[in-house]
Amino acid sequence: MVPPESPTPPDAGSPARPYPPGGPSAEDQARLRATLLSLRTGLLRSNKDLADEALQGSGQDFSIDHMADSASDSSNQEISISLLAGETQMLEAIERAIYKIDGRAGLPFGVCERCAEESDWDPETSAPWIPTGRLDAVPYARLCVMHQEEQEEN
Ligand SMILES: [Zn+2]
Repeated sequence: MVPPESPTPPDAGSPARPYPPGGPSAEDQARLRATLLSLRTGLLRSNKDLADEALQGSGQDFSIDHMADSASDSSNQEISISLLAGETQMLEAIERAIYKIDGRAGLPFGVCERCAEESDWDPETSAPWIPTGRLDAVPYARLCVMHQEEQEEN
């Protein structure tokens, strides 16, 4: 890898090149972090309720595998399990976003993860930063709109 003291030439094609200016400001990040934390709190509470509901009548310790096997016992139980799986995924995305804001995830907060993998973006024309408006709507977004749509098509 390039030693930190040697500057990266702008067209070296290295994935280590710096991100273009832009992205959420410190104020944006502080605001979105607070939003993420409250989303997380709400989800944790709801996750617990769903898990309790999914467990009702099963008399078993909490286990996704077991619940999936016995889900046909009750459609309510089945709904709770699928909601729980969706919420667990969202929870992971939220925690990942908080990690990014705290500088513990390797990627800065607000960079599209797919764009960041591409080394050929041109700071003049492409924007690996997820627009703040999108982050306000979905603070745990991992992809820009273009890559999100691409993923949903596949
Ligand atoms: Zn992207």
